[in-house]
Amino acid sequence: MTGSSSESPAQEGSETSLDPKDWDELRLLGHRMLDDMIDHIATIRERPVWQPIPDVARAQFREALPRKSSGLGEVYRTFTDFIAPYATGNTHPGFMGWVHGGGSVVGMLAEMLAAGLNANLGGRDHVPIEVERQIVEWTREMFGFPTGASGIFVTGTSMANLLAVLVARTCALGKPSRRNGLGKAGALLTAYTSKAAHGCISKAMDIAGFGSDALRSVAVDQAHRIDVAALRAQIRRDRDTGLSPFLVVASAGTVDVGAIDDLVALGALCREEKLWFHIDGAFGALGILSDEVAPKLVGIETADSIALDFHKWGQVPYDAGFLLVRDGERHRDAFAAPAAYLRRETRGLAAGSLWPCDLGPDLSRGFRALKTWFTLKTYGTERLGAVIKQCCELARYLEGRITAEPRLELLAPVNLNIVCFRYRSGDANEVNGEIVINLQESGIAAPSATMLDGQLAIRAAIVNHRTGIGDIDRLVAAVLEFGARRAAERPVVEVEAPPLAV
Ligand SMILES: *Cc1c(COP(=O)(O)O)cnc(C)c1O
Repeated sequence: MTGSSSESPAQEGSETSLDPKDWDELRLLGHRMLDDMIDHIATIRERPVWQPIPDVARAQFREALPRKSSGLGEVYRTFTDFIAPYATGNTHPGFMGWVHGGGSVVGMLAEMLAAGLNANLGGRDHVPIEVERQIVEWTREMFGFPTGASGIFVTGTSMANLLAVLVARTCALGKPSRRNGLGKAGALLTAYTSKAAHGCISKAMDIAGFGSDALRSVAVDQAHRIDVAALRAQIRRDRDTGLSPFLVVASAGTVDVGAIDDLVALGALCREEKLWFHIDGAFGALGILSDEVAPKLVGIETADSIALDFHKWGQVPYDAGFLLVRDGERHRDAFAAPAAYLRRETRGLAAGSLWPCDLGPDLSRGFRALKTWFTLKTYGTERLGAVIKQCCELARYLEGRITAEPRLELLAPVNLNIVCFRYRSGDANEVNGEIVINLQESGIAAPSATMLDGQLAIRAAIVNHRTGIGDIDRLVAAVLEFGARRAAERPVVEVEAPPLAV
């Protein structure tokens, strides 16, 4: 070795290493990136929620494969100029579209640390796995599941729901079905959810090989909760025709209006009928952390499995979906598979079985647990629960503004944090669809649109910890403004965002 002791370790190593030649220069730029991003978040209110993408920005990402190196500073400039300003906007307090979490700076920092460690959480014996196990235990505790419950991080609730369907499938058909396939018995299996359930459940049934027709969409009541009597009748009819009901998927927070099914009644029905009781609690399940919402979730502790997203109400940066399964052995039965190259030992790096790869389809997995651990540790569940409570209070405040305003009409009961309403007008669907787009393009607020009984609703889902009363007032003012312009049949022109409260 030719290097002197004063030379950096990188110089002792490979000539082709991707590490920088000059660590000080890298450090300087790295710190600037961190400062810039902290500034970006700290000043988020000063910018539009979202803005249409100019052609010049899109063009940056239609380039040929870069064969030669570029300076990191130059690449970073493309990020600051063309990526950061044109992101979804869900970190902004005016973002109320779909159900998007706001993330947090703590989660952001943790994600950076996780990328630095570059840990692979498929398995083996290292503390990052212990961190994921810690989250499993905390989640188990949150929902009052017994010891022996298991859990796993996945991308999102779509994936967690799919995994739950697969666990229920193996439970219904037995482990040999993993070799033999669904067979005749599998072709008879039927699952149940409400008409208000998220589309990913039907997709999960399709991917699991049952076909989406094997999922019965049961009617909902006035409050958008599954009609338990209708569910019971459907199960009876299916049994009478020789089918084999195996799974009920309840919603704890429907995506359209935030309805929570009667989890106590569904738990009892599933025990009685010997069905797997899964709950899609994508955003609603973490309501368990708020004293106000928790009573609405009674019965969640009786589920066989719960899917949820830490990236929604948990404010963890994307992505951080999670599946919790009451009986860890059932969970393992669905996914564990021996492989010579994944041999387990009792000592060394290959120790520490059970591994997360025994609990899902992924082998290589990132360290999603770290940003979740930092979020839970740093803020604590009480503070996260207070955010959830605040979101629900803001939804009620918005409901009050709507019912007090003759030009607006509430379109669904406000159960949690989602408010569906519209501007009263002839041609209401067209007008309100346009109002939603105008709002988004104005940068003032970004609700989304949904259809409720054939009526197009402006849908505000309040999920972001940064959202306050002023943001709700700005939303209402802008809806009225865009609605009035449309009513006056004046051409719609760009509006300036109103001055923002500090
Ligand atoms: C968001 C959501 C999903 C899908 O979750 P992803 O994390 O986007 O995959 C499923 N169900 C409900 C009720 C949701 O709100």
